[in-house]
Amino acid sequence: MSETKLPLLARAIDSVTIGIVLLNHEQRVVFWNAWMERHSRIPAKNTEGKTLAELFPEMCNGRVQNAITESLRTGLSSLLSQSLNQAPFPLFGSSIGVDHTIRIQQAIQVIPIAVAESSRYCLLQITDVSASVYREKLLRDQALVLHRHSYFDVLTGIANRRRFDEYSEEEFRRARRTASPIALILLDIDHFKKYNDYYGHQAGDQCLKQVAATLAGVLKRPADLLARYGGEEFVAVLPETDSAGAHQVGEVMRERIESIQLPHAASPTAGHITISIGTAARLPGRDDVLALLIRSADQALYHAKHTGRNRVASAEDDGE
Ligand code: GH3
Ligand code: MG
Ligand code: MG
Repeated sequence: MSETKLPLLARAIDSVTIGIVLLNHEQRVVFWNAWMERHSRIPAKNTEGKTLAELFPEMCNGRVQNAITESLRTGLSSLLSQSLNQAPFPLFGSSIGVDHTIRIQQAIQVIPIAVAESSRYCLLQITDVSASVYREKLLRDQALVLHRHSYFDVLTGIANRRRFDEYSEEEFRRARRTASPIALILLDIDHFKKYNDYYGHQAGDQCLKQVAATLAGVLKRPADLLARYGGEEFVAVLPETDSAGAHQVGEVMRERIESIQLPHAASPTAGHITISIGTAARLPGRDDVLALLIRSADQALYHAKHTGRNRVASAEDDGE
């Protein structure tokens, strides 16, 4: 290369928007470009002849230093992605310009350069990947929100029908495998149509929220799931629970809803909101299907409705 091209080359390297650091075989800095000066806040003249550990004591024996040692020894390149080590160099002032106290997220390429047989250099190329990391985080957050929307009921915040369908199938299969009982509680608000007609649909929505929150407060075991089954109906999946246990939980739910005394002046059953409950439990046999358990709970609920409402009926109560 001609002598005149050298200053031009140095200018070019100073103009690129990535960090360029050249180290000699003793891992001492030979070149530190303008991007590195800007983002490390260390002028190039202060870096000459220094090791990275001298410039940044926190990098001593870190992944970057190991990669440099390996590259000088083997003559092979390597890439340190940001996913494993997000910001090895203390560099600040990212191109996305959010906060100048936040470290730039870095992808670092370690490239050995053999000039003569005895002298090997190591080129570090540091890329600011903050923007893609930021985008990735945004996408992850959005995926999380979508996930929530697909499994949770928007009005009440509890699990939705889709979640119930999946979870109850999973737990029913587990109960069969482990030969343990599983129970369902199906419940329905009494005279809710009259509530809407009397207080208005918006008040009805508020009532549904309060009922859902109250019912959720009853369930204590981590494996229990409360879901909105549809309209003013709710369902609870209770793994490892037998018929007596389900009846007991159902009774607590009924009492708890009565105890919050939500006024329902139009109810023929009581002056406040009440619920009717059907429970069913079984030890799933080999050919058993979840649909049969749901049907039993549904029939029990029907029984509770037709024997006066504001009560708990178990599948056995209606002759099942
Ligand atoms: P029963 O005691 O026999 O259960 O009588 P009910 O009036 O509760 O039963 P019905 O099935 O006749 O009416 C259910 C009502 O629930 C009708 C419907 O407008 C209301 N409902 C269903 N979903 C919602 C909702 O998301 N918000 C509101 N405000 N009302 C709802
Ligand atoms: Mg109903
Ligand atoms: Mg109802």
